[in-house]
Amino acid sequence: MKYCCDCAALLEVRIPEGDERPRHCCDRCGSIHYQNPKNVVGTLPVYGDQILLCKRAISPRSGKWTLPAGFMENGESSLTGAIRETKEEAGAVVIAKKNSLYTLFNLPDINQMYLFFRVELANLKFSPGIESEEVALFSESEIPWEEIAFPVVKTTLKQYFQDIKSNNFPVRMFDVHHDQSRKISTKVISCSDS
Ligand SMILES: [Zn+2]
Repeated sequence: MKYCCDCAALLEVRIPEGDERPRHCCDRCGSIHYQNPKNVVGTLPVYGDQILLCKRAISPRSGKWTLPAGFMENGESSLTGAIRETKEEAGAVVIAKKNSLYTLFNLPDINQMYLFFRVELANLKFSPGIESEEVALFSESEIPWEEIAFPVVKTTLKQYFQDIKSNNFPVRMFDVHHDQSRKISTKVISCSDS
């Protein structure tokens, strides 16, 4: 952010009075432009023993497989956003039951939070949207584990195939850290089962 979106003056990055963090401050109109983490919402669409995945047609990780997910829009709920993204990216209509919330990932190093919901495919009608190259159903043994786009997606899929053995799907929250060599660590911070 370089210019004020209220008055177009050049912004200065400094710690405002009473604050503790540097902010983009406008000295002309007095606006302070706060930047906060973005929420990414998505679904884990289930059909029998299969999961619906999308092959990404856009960067980052073009050509890799992912669960349908995207940035939450203003004015929508997290679940509504996840269902919308599933329709947009996979052309799929899904049904969310009362216990759909499944995984939450805090990614403080890249200023994002991910939420995934467990949902069921309403039918076998699906087709790639503009951001997807291909959409397909996979059983556990068919999942292209080495071709999964994001660690949060891989963790959610692994967790699902673990939980399905006991048919118990507690809500888990993970902290994800990216170290300087871009190595990623994922740790469970909270689990609704314990
Ligand atoms: Zn301004």
